Amino acid sequence: MATSIYDVDLPDWRLKEILDVANEWTICNGVSIKSGGEGVEARKAVSAPYSLFPSVVPASILQQAKSSMVHFNRLMHKVALDHDFLEESLKNVIKADDFMENLWNIYLKVRDAGVKQPYHLGLFRNDFMMNCLNNVGPGELVSADQLELKQIEFNAISSSFGGLSEQLGHLHRLTLRMCGKQFDSDQIPENRSATGLAQGLAAAWDLYGNPKAVLLYLISSDERNVIDQRWLEFKMYNTHPQIRVLRRTLAELSDNGILQGDGRLFLGNDEVAVVYMRDGYTAENYPTLKEWDGRLKMELSTAIKCPSIQYQLVGSKKIQQELARPGALEKFISDPAIVQSIRSTFADLYSLDLGEEGDIAVGKALAAPDKFVLKPQREGGGHNLYSEAITNFFTTYSNSKEREGYILMQRIFPWQQKNYLVKAGVPFVLSNVVSEVGIYGVYLGSEAEEKQNYECGHMLRTKISGTDEGGIVAGFAVLDTPFLV
Ligand code: ADP
Ligand code: MG
Ligand code: MG
Repeated sequence: MATSIYDVDLPDWRLKEILDVANEWTICNGVSIKSGGEGVEARKAVSAPYSLFPSVVPASILQQAKSSMVHFNRLMHKVALDHDFLEESLKNVIKADDFMENLWNIYLKVRDAGVKQPYHLGLFRNDFMMNCLNNVGPGELVSADQLELKQIEFNAISSSFGGLSEQLGHLHRLTLRMCGKQFDSDQIPENRSATGLAQGLAAAWDLYGNPKAVLLYLISSDERNVIDQRWLEFKMYNTHPQIRVLRRTLAELSDNGILQGDGRLFLGNDEVAVVYMRDGYTAENYPTLKEWDGRLKMELSTAIKCPSIQYQLVGSKKIQQELARPGALEKFISDPAIVQSIRSTFADLYSLDLGEEGDIAVGKALAAPDKFVLKPQREGGGHNLYSEAITNFFTTYSNSKEREGYILMQRIFPWQQKNYLVKAGVPFVLSNVVSEVGIYGVYLGSEAEEKQNYECGHMLRTKISGTDEGGIVAGFAVLDTPFLV
């Protein structure tokens, strides 16, 4: 049985007309991305990769993911402030991975310096896939009880696409209606991701308490996803038009940032209230010592960091794996029902630390490499190893400390649907696709106090089935929206 939204049953010429409308709509409504390249070319905005129609998500699954977000927010905050847990969890990773070691060293320096800013700001995105329990063909309708929501990863830094995702549902209502589909408006639910994230930035700026201080967007010099970042800024101006936003790189922060004796951070005459990182999330963002110097400077300051170094550390795959150990969640959450609801979303996760436990995991992976994903401590897509690459990795590093920089994860086999992906290099045909659901959350708090904790919308991203990776800017997936059934 095909689900009603796939079989649009339109002649090709009408589909092309709808595609033309959709392409222009994305440009007119800011579902766009910079084209990249050099000079003037680089400033042009083009459509962000998107799907022509929404993809089905059972309402109960989306609800499950959304309702867990405030618990995840608080959990990650608590873990970030638990020095012993961080140290115990990360002690082997930092010996095997220079990037993690550098982050860890910054954390230690911040700790030695004493608390300069007790509040931490998280603009998080918790990502899930719908694991399909039965072996059904692409496009077959599956009921919610045949799907299990499984966490892929928790993003604690530079969680992207909240800006563009707020727009996209409006496009999908239009494209479905142009096909003559009947549906309730709330089957494509309202999504206030950009607005909610922007409110988090504004709340942190308010909390800092200096009306003259600026919000610093930490960006890369060759960023393409600028429009997504700008949406948060535009939404913030709805309530806080007085906030000045500066956009600087880590290298510029190193060159021009002044850390005063009392910890206040200045750029020229401007005191920085909040640093919002849309760079610095992965190793390639630190090509020289200068970027590390810029990072240290902001971390040692009184500015409210989104995220702080601790928050970035808890977003690592290693922490995800350590939290999946029996008894780990109970250290942070007293309510067994909440523990159970969070744990039910965890896939099987394995430490690869040298020793018996890690050896057993390596054995499992070598016996069935197609059933696992091997993950290093990186962000932004394109770093994981699958299938043959897993076998090769463990053959080369069977018993060396390199493996301690990775974790092993059960591979999720998501429900396959059908959709048209609109993306350079992908043929515009009805394709077998799989989706990943992200839930946005904002947390602003200190050791003593929770100022903000809310869930604020969702993103859906969809890729051709069989594609291993999933990043949109990295070129694997497209933006999508959930169609609730
Ligand atoms: P990153 O931080 O680089 O985004 P992820 O853990 O999200 O790292 O992995 C990147 C992509 O790889 C995901 O978007 C998803 O498409 C795919 N992926 C990750 N983990 C799994 C898994 N356990 N099963 C299936 N696919 C996965
Ligand atoms: Mg990530
Ligand atoms: Mg990811």
